[in-house]
Amino acid sequence: MNKNSRRRFLRQTVTAATGLALAPGLVSCGAGNTATASSSAPARAPEKGRKLNVALLGLGSYAKGQIAPSLQFTRHCQLAGIITGSPEKIPEWQAKHDIPDENVYSYDNMDELADNPNIDVVYVITPTATHKEFAVRAAKAGKHVWCEKPMAMTVEDSQAIIDACNENNVRLSIGYRMLHEPNTQDFIALSKEKAFGAFTAATSLAGYAGSDPPTDYWRGQRAMGGGALYDMGVYTVNGLRYGLQMAPVAVVKAMQHRPTEVDVTTEYTLEFPGGLLAEGKTSVVTNYNQLRIEGENGWHEMQPMQPYGGVKGLTSAGTVLGPPIDGKQQTLQMDDDALAIMNNTPVLAPGEMGRDDIAVIRAIIESAETGKRVVL
Ligand code: NDP
Repeated sequence: MNKNSRRRFLRQTVTAATGLALAPGLVSCGAGNTATASSSAPARAPEKGRKLNVALLGLGSYAKGQIAPSLQFTRHCQLAGIITGSPEKIPEWQAKHDIPDENVYSYDNMDELADNPNIDVVYVITPTATHKEFAVRAAKAGKHVWCEKPMAMTVEDSQAIIDACNENNVRLSIGYRMLHEPNTQDFIALSKEKAFGAFTAATSLAGYAGSDPPTDYWRGQRAMGGGALYDMGVYTVNGLRYGLQMAPVAVVKAMQHRPTEVDVTTEYTLEFPGGLLAEGKTSVVTNYNQLRIEGENGWHEMQPMQPYGGVKGLTSAGTVLGPPIDGKQQTLQMDDDALAIMNNTPVLAPGEMGRDDIAVIRAIIESAETGKRVVL
């Protein structure tokens, strides 16, 4: 068994084992890298063997096309409720997913979730500018929060979500699906090992050949979190974080192309500790998809680095990270996050990670607008 397949075998074994080991007395705990049991929290862990009940908030294209179908394959959580501002969507969702009337909410009455013990998690899948309001309300209703990327518009909004989850003793995960993808995890392991010596450079590219987002849709609106940098650029920033296993210290320079109010392409240079420079590029009008880490003795890369399926990796030693895996990321993500809640263990994508990536996004925008280096 080679190292990679052994790592994957171990991961599956651990997942299977932990899935069976639910401690009935567990308490929920606040967000963050470290799982700390709260002294005051009520014991709200599910009964042994029970799946966590998830309510999806925002029934748009990602919820319908990826998350709901992925929930059909999860072992530790299930689709149990919906929260929507579009009443016309309700009959189809209820019929397709067998959702009872008492688990259907609107944005007006979602605070009543506090009285519903049959919902454990609210998964926020709405336009980025709305994440803060919905995530904070879900936390205040006592529900664990899964929040899509990018976490929020600002560091302050991100911190408000973290604080609300901590204050209400619920867990928080950001929907960084790549962190749950097995080939990406093998790539990260090479980064952690510094398999090719000290890092010397990095490149992170994520873009797709779409068209200018229409201005009457949130993806074309700056105030709603539209544009390439928030949407795709957050993958490049997060990729550099896990590829280099450290946080950037400054944005050296950045450039944004904004034909309307949002950027369709953004390029940036980040500086990491020790003076290491990383180049990032993101776009909603041009295809590219690569994360490459250069070391003193070679390199490792993923290309493509963030599609829903088919992530491929390669190293300068000829090692292929793979085979490419189709369509399991969101299932793995939600099962990992459910197990973290049930076993009171750290999540792979905590709120602090989401917040720190938003700090980088904001600094890239500031650098592009001022032409100056921005220290993080
Ligand atoms: P859509 O526009 O397709 O859907 C968003 C949904 O949010 C709407 O259908 C609506 O649902 C709800 N909503 C609530 N408030 C508003 C509002 N003010 N304006 C518009 N819609 C609103 O977006 P996506 O599903 O593509 O994206 C949603 C989130 O998921 C974003 O944060 C995005 O970044 C993230 N995403 C993540 C991906 C990933 O790979 N991790 C991939 C794609 C998206 P309803 O009608 O039910 O109220």
